Amino acid sequence: MRHLIVHQNTRARRHQKIVSHCEVACGDRGNLIIMRSLRRSAPRDDSWLMRRCASALVLWCSGVLVLFSTQSIQAELQVHVLDVGYGAAVHVEDELDHYFFDIGPEAAQQTILNHLADHGVTRLRAVFLTHTHPDHAGSLLAILGQIKTDVIFWNDRLPPNEKLVQMLDQAQEIAPFQPVKSGQTLSLSRDFRVRILNSNYETMDLNDGGLVFALEYKKKKLLLPGDIGSLRQKNLVELNKKWLEKVNWMLWPHHGDRLDESFLAVFKKPLIGVVSVAENPYKVPHGDIKSQAKLICSELYRTDTHGPLHFSVNYKITLITDSIANRFDE
Ligand SMILES: [Zn+2]
Repeated sequence: MRHLIVHQNTRARRHQKIVSHCEVACGDRGNLIIMRSLRRSAPRDDSWLMRRCASALVLWCSGVLVLFSTQSIQAELQVHVLDVGYGAAVHVEDELDHYFFDIGPEAAQQTILNHLADHGVTRLRAVFLTHTHPDHAGSLLAILGQIKTDVIFWNDRLPPNEKLVQMLDQAQEIAPFQPVKSGQTLSLSRDFRVRILNSNYETMDLNDGGLVFALEYKKKKLLLPGDIGSLRQKNLVELNKKWLEKVNWMLWPHHGDRLDESFLAVFKKPLIGVVSVAENPYKVPHGDIKSQAKLICSELYRTDTHGPLHFSVNYKITLITDSIANRFDE
């Protein structure tokens, strides 16, 4: 069993007598569980114990009340798809913590830092990388240099690019990198889980060999598939059909590329689709994206035409960003 301490966030630190540390632990099936637990010390004598119990009870009650009221007000997930140009960076915040799913190209580092400053984020509990191509991981070192980050979850695969490898080496000196694999689940809170969808597709290709993150919040399901192409999409459908049938929100694979027919067929309308893209030499989004989206999506958004997008996820998913009119015709 492997343990990795994850320090508590700022808000949790205010309640440090109640919540003293967090741990990421590997469970029996390799599932990762992020736990918050009490730190206990040995009692010295009975009267000391009584006083400790009384003060602990008061603290516990106030802590429960504070946590309860916080959760009742903010019990939803905020999902920000940043406009990082050609690349992907999705900032997700739950009631207590901040996460990134991919962290954009190097050219977007100031955009990301400005976004974090605007949202008062001084600490990230985790960064999840689908893969290490520069449009998904290029800003990592710059962000780690400015924002305390507890852990980077990745697939332990380096890109064939010396500059990027050096950047990742330097990043590993700042924050711990934790390899994760298909089939694992990370429990981030009572309501929020990240599954890494099953795969038995062997490839040297970084895009198709990427991690596919499946976020579950209450009953909603969000898919962050990175840049997987049609062969990996087929494999994903073969191994994860039941989960994919229930997806409510998806970051379109590979910046709007054409979906494999089997992948397209697995989704049930209505789904919210988001394309993170800008001008590029790869001819994405694909010319068929509108016709494919109309088969599965009730709404489709693009960062190149709509800019950054903010959704709230609770028992339904709502676009918070205003001034967006016709989602298909722009
Ligand atoms: Zn990409």
